[in-house]
Amino acid sequence: MKVVLASHNKGKLVELAAILEAGVPELELVGYDGPEPIEDGTSYLANALIKARAANQHTDLPAIADDSGIAVEILGGSPGIFSARWSGTRDAATNRQLLLAQLEDVAPEHRAAAFVCTIALVDGNDEILFTGIWPGSIATEERGTNGHGYDPIFIPEGFEHTAAEIDSEVKNAFSHRAQALSQLIEYLRAN
Ligand code: IMP
Repeated sequence: MKVVLASHNKGKLVELAAILEAGVPELELVGYDGPEPIEDGTSYLANALIKARAANQHTDLPAIADDSGIAVEILGGSPGIFSARWSGTRDAATNRQLLLAQLEDVAPEHRAAAFVCTIALVDGNDEILFTGIWPGSIATEERGTNGHGYDPIFIPEGFEHTAAEIDSEVKNAFSHRAQALSQLIEYLRAN
């Protein structure tokens, strides 16, 4: 079964492909190099669908796309879908610094947050969505060098270390992306 992975982000593409191909060996994954749609949805679900629909229409192949971000409770769910550009730039360190500054006076017990990942699978009129949520809290300072994005300031529930301090194997067993992917793998195996 040939499926197109609608992501121009090489790192994410490799990570998603490795997990998917291990889970469903009969999948043949191809990258998407067609036009990028405007991601103007107001939710992770809407943006994942926009990306998967565009790839499906352009290639005529079933398409998979994901959208993710970090939601901070005391900020009403922000940065959310704006996580990648929270500071107005795509620089991850600047985005983290802004978030830490916004939470400067917030006590540890009020720093609840969650990583969220939605994956859309689109094949013509068939549209299916899978969402994974990784609860935790925002640290008071950056810790760790593994990982990317907000990992150095996110402490997953049940852990004392940030997502940038724990092994990537451990992260890949618990993360929002891993949870959404395991639902997708279960669906693909059953269908
Ligand atoms: P997108 O899904 O590629 O649009 O990414 C959304 C943004 O959310 C990224 O730029 C990251 O800053 C953040 N993000 C999503 N997943 C993770 C993660 O697993 N670790 C750290 N940051 C993440």
